[in-house]
Amino acid sequence: MKKKVIIANWKMNHDFYETTSYLRNLLKIIYENKIHHKKKIIIAPSFPFLHISNQILQGTTLSIAAQNIHQMENGSYTGEVSASMLRSIGIKKVILGHSERRKYFTETNDILIKKIKISLKYGFHIIFCIGETGIDRKKEEHFFTVKKQLEKTIFHFSLEKINSFIIAYEPIWAIGTGNTASPEVVQLMHQYIRSLFLNKYGETVSNDLSILYGGSINDMNARDLFLQKDIDGGLVGNSSLQMKNFLKIIQS
Ligand code: PEP
Repeated sequence: MKKKVIIANWKMNHDFYETTSYLRNLLKIIYENKIHHKKKIIIAPSFPFLHISNQILQGTTLSIAAQNIHQMENGSYTGEVSASMLRSIGIKKVILGHSERRKYFTETNDILIKKIKISLKYGFHIIFCIGETGIDRKKEEHFFTVKKQLEKTIFHFSLEKINSFIIAYEPIWAIGTGNTASPEVVQLMHQYIRSLFLNKYGETVSNDLSILYGGSINDMNARDLFLQKDIDGGLVGNSSLQMKNFLKIIQS
């Protein structure tokens, strides 16, 4: 049985004190309630707090992910953070392709290929986000959009690299809007995504692949989503900011 993966994407939220006290409290509760072996829990804090966060979670079953990586090795890229810098502080996971990065920072598929390459070079596990807009869905082009996103990014990589990926299906119309996609809608898309991996890489890859859902998950809807056959967990934004809410989602 694959363990469910629950990721908290804190985006540009939580200062030093909030980050460290949240993590210490979360750890305490998760271990006291013996849920640390049941789920794979990953937290993505902001860059300045990755080091201390990683130290707090050292030796536990929880882990830390960066929210981004720059595509170049190093050089004159003011304000950016490289894969080797993150590895030097022990970070081994990264979120790439988030719709907010694609929208506000114009991350194209070509840039994402470079980001994937450098992340793989430094041995990162990649949580890769894909998902259609509301317009795509209205025009009934959502399957096509998601297929194209995969073909133009991850599908450039060979079979041996694919176990470094977790897919997060995040329909853009559901992110931060309160409009969660229904479990049935998500299940259909996840089944489709899995079938694309089956055709491209074969049965073992497609069975082993974790496909998470993201988009307004909360403690009320998480359980029904996670009960679906092809939903292997969730990427949680807003509802992960309060520890109590995030814990309820973990326990769903
Ligand atoms: C996200 O941004 O990845 C996300 C899923 O956000 P929210 O849960 O707030 O919709």
